Order: sequence, then structure tokens, then C-alpha cells
Amino acid sequence: MSDPRGFMKARRVASPERDPAERVKDYSEIYGTLPEPELREQAGRCMDCGVPFCNNGCPLGNLIPDWNDLVRTGAWREAIDQLHATNNFPEFTGLVCPAPCESACVLDINDDPVMIKQIEWAIIERAFREGWVAPEPPESRTGLSVGVVGSGPAGLAAADELNKVGHEVTVYERDEGPGGLIRFGVPDAKLEKWIIDRRVAILEQEGINFSYDTEVGGDVSGAELRERHDAVVLAVGSRVERDLEVPGRELDGVHFAMDYLYQRNRHVAREEGRASREPEHVISAAGKRVVVIGGGDTGMDCVSNALREEAEDVELLDVYPDVPEGGRYPDTPWPEQPRRLVTTYALDEGGERTFARQVTHLEGEGRVQSLHAREVTGSSSRTLEPVEGSEFSRPVDLVLIAIGFTHPEHEGLVSELGLDLDGRGNIEAPEFTSSEDGVFVAGDARIGASLIVTAIAEGRRCARAVESWLRARQPA
Ligand SMILES: Cc1cc2nc3c(=O)[nH]c(=O)nc-3n(C[C@H](O)[C@H](O)[C@H](O)COP(=O)(O)OP(=O)(O)OC[C@H]3O[C@@H](n4cnc5c(N)ncnc54)[C@H](O)[C@@H]3O)c2cc1C
Ligand code: SF4
Repeated sequence: MSDPRGFMKARRVASPERDPAERVKDYSEIYGTLPEPELREQAGRCMDCGVPFCNNGCPLGNLIPDWNDLVRTGAWREAIDQLHATNNFPEFTGLVCPAPCESACVLDINDDPVMIKQIEWAIIERAFREGWVAPEPPESRTGLSVGVVGSGPAGLAAADELNKVGHEVTVYERDEGPGGLIRFGVPDAKLEKWIIDRRVAILEQEGINFSYDTEVGGDVSGAELRERHDAVVLAVGSRVERDLEVPGRELDGVHFAMDYLYQRNRHVAREEGRASREPEHVISAAGKRVVVIGGGDTGMDCVSNALREEAEDVELLDVYPDVPEGGRYPDTPWPEQPRRLVTTYALDEGGERTFARQVTHLEGEGRVQSLHAREVTGSSSRTLEPVEGSEFSRPVDLVLIAIGFTHPEHEGLVSELGLDLDGRGNIEAPEFTSSEDGVFVAGDARIGASLIVTAIAEGRRCARAVESWLRARQPA
């Protein structure tokens, strides 16, 4: 039974992070963990509310009050069992989830919310250290086979769940390693890649096959995929980037953020001696005046990399206004999720963010030399209004476009399989079932660009849909 007054006895403390001035000199993890007594005290701030809004705020439905109380009492082994019951990969979310659970915590009404994400990370790291996370292959096999396309968090979660119930699972991945955007988008500073490799090694030992450098719809055709497997899960992400439609977009030195981030992640991998593809054209921020357009996670990760490359200066332009005091817009009061979760870790290391700025055009002779923009008001794309007389320009050598993703790629696999799309261009799959019988869809490819926690939840729920479909087709 938790202490209902715990939050009155202990204040929330900040999560430890390495000094920004130091960490910007390397690519290693920036987050640390609190010592055990402090973690237990923080877990003790959870009052086990009658209605745990945090549980509802977590897309995985993590049993937060339960594992908080287990941590409070030092029952770490039971805590990891509780955590793994709802989350296949707490080490990913414990590091980089924006923690919508904390925004939904009842204490967030008028106090600092309970520390949840860091406790999640502490539970899983303790479990790995103690050897409690060990391969558990299924006791028997069903004789049925499932092909999963894409090894991002959605594909990995679906594969894990389907393997656990005994199906033969093969994950096809066109990149050279697993993880999707958490390997090639998210920098090592936020999540070191051995963390993905450690988990995938367990999945392999549990019997999941991984086929890297394999583009389905290219190296393997959609028809072949369907022949090889009884059911197929597409977890191909939402990879078509939203473009900046302004004059000068075609100039050299103007790139999509993901082209830059893929290269940076591969560069770090090579520095660490891990196998990784070489880029055909190098995009470098070293010594350059860099402007990143877009204020989400992708933009922040570009800033973080450009600083590590020792750019001359880095400015991030955000078209939306600054977040009000307390981090919430008035139209998203508790327990609503704040409309935008702003990450600032990169800006603690350097660079500058300017809010409410809209780029109007880029200029240069062959290569971009100047960026022209204006001030705007409004908090959504529909309400943006230019401020008269606010136009300005600045010199620039490298422009990175990080204004979001529109939908999954349509050419290749999706069109080969003839799948229906929804109004936003995502693969239409209500209840995870696409327009083709036996083809299921999970993650960003189904719901649009989202979060790691949502992708894991998608993979888990999709696996249940696949499982019932396969079972229904089995002779009684
Ligand atoms: C730069 C960046 C930073 C982010 N930071 C965060 C963060 O801090 N916290 C957070 O919660 N979320 C973050 N996100 C969002 C999060 O990473 C994604 O929502 C999540 O990875 C989506 O998972 P997914 O499995 O659906 O797709 P993805 O991760 O995109 O994985 C899809 C996989 O499918 C593969 N694939 C595609 N087509 C084929 C094919 N035809 N054949 C074979 N393989 C194929 C791709 O190579 C890829 O590996 C970030 C996103 C970006 C871009
Ligand atoms: S996965 Fe994210 S939302 Fe869920 S409990 Fe962990 S930090 Fe909170």
C-alpha cells in the first residue's frame, strides 16, 4: 500500500544529466540515473490514485502505480515483471519517451508530477544488470509463419509478441541494422545503439530471424513475401518528409533532416567500429552557419548533431509560438496531453531557438547563402498570420528541413500489394487489418508519425489481431 502523503514529504528532483558543456564534445549518452535511495523516495511520491490518470496517459497502459510501489519497497524483480507485462522495451521508452504519463499524473494539476520515466529506466537497467532479462524462447512452435517488414519499435514489438506465442517470425529490414528511427534518427546522445543491439540479441536467441539490407518491394517482392508467410505485418514507418515549399528549396546546402541524421548516426557507428553504410554525398555542419527549420524532436536532434560537428552557429526556427508558462497551452488543461512536447536538451548545449518565424524563401548562387523569413502569429498551420514589416534575412550555409512527415512511402511495397490508403495517405488498416486479407499494419505507417511508446503499443495490438486471424483459420 503506497504512502498517500509521500508527495508531501519529498519534492521531485531533476533527473541527472551530464554537463551540457562537456557532453557536447562527444556522442555518448547524456542521461544518468539517481542513486537507489532517491529513486525509491521518488517512487514513494506516487499516491496510488483511485483513478490513475497516468495509466491512461501511457499509450501502453503501463501499470505505473503498481511498479512505483514495488520500487518504493525495493521489490525490483517484481517491478520488472510488472513493467514487461505491458512494455516490451522499457529501455527505449525509459530513455526517450516524452512521458505523456507524467503530464497526466494527478499531481501535475498543481505540483510537480511523479517521476515515472526515469523510474522505468532504472527498473529495466537494474533487471539487465541482475541478469533478470534472459531469453525465453517459446516452449513449442505453431508451425505458422509471420513476416514483419520494418524493425522499428512497432515491428520489433509485433515480432516479439508473435514469437512468444510460437509463430516463426522473420523481420525484414532494408537498413543494415535494427531499430528504425531509434537507430537512424535518434542520436546516441539520447539513446546509445548498444541498447537496441542488447535487446535484439535476446529476440534472436528467442528465435526471431532478422534479414537486414533487405528491401521488401525490391530485394524481395511483395508477392514472394506473401508466399513465404501465413501472415504479414507492415511496420514500415511514415518516411515521406514534409517539404519546405519555398523558392530556393532546390539550392545546394538545403537538405531534409533525415538525410543528415542518417549520415550522422552512421558516422558515429563507424567511429565506434560498427558496420555501417558510407554516404554517397556528405552533408556536414562543421564550420557552417546552420539553420534548422522545425521545432520538434527531429529539429532538436539536428541541432545536437550540428553542435557536435562544431558548426559556426546553429539557429532553430520554429513557426509556432513559445509554450506558455508551465508548458501547457490553455486549450490543453490537465489531464489533456499538452498539445506539443518541446524537447530542449540540444539547446542546453548551444544554438538558439526563435519562435514564430516562417521562412519565405532561400537565395544563393547554386548554393544557399541567405534565408529570408518573417514573424507570424497563430498556433496552428490554419491560423498563421504574417506580421507586417517583420521580414528579415540572415546568412546561412546549411539548411535542414525538419517539419514532419506526411505518410509512408507509397511506391514499392504498398503499391505492389495494392493497399488502400486513408485520407492522410497512411495505409488504411482499421483494427490493424489492411485491404488485403492477411496483411496487417502497425505503427507510424498506420497512424502517421508518432512516438516510440505509441509504436510499441501498435505492434502489440497488431500482434493480437494477427494471432486471432491465424487462429480463426486453423482447423478445429
Ligand atoms: C529524428 C527523430 C527523433 C525522434 N525522437 C523521438 C523521441 O525522442 N521520443 C519518441 O518517443 N519518439 C521519437 N521519434 C519518433 C519515433 O522514432 C517514431 O515514432 C517510431 O520510431 C516509429 O516506429 P515505427 O516502427 O512505426 O517506424 P520506424 O521507426 O520508422 O521503422 C520503420 C522501419 O521500416 C523499415 N522499412 C521501411 N520500408 C521497408 C521495406 N520496404 N522493406 C524493409 N524495411 C522497410 C525502415 O527502414 C525502418 O527501419 C523521433 C523520430 C525522429 C525522426
Ligand atoms: S512508456 Fe512513456 S508514457 Fe508510458 S509509463 Fe513510460 S514514460 Fe510514461
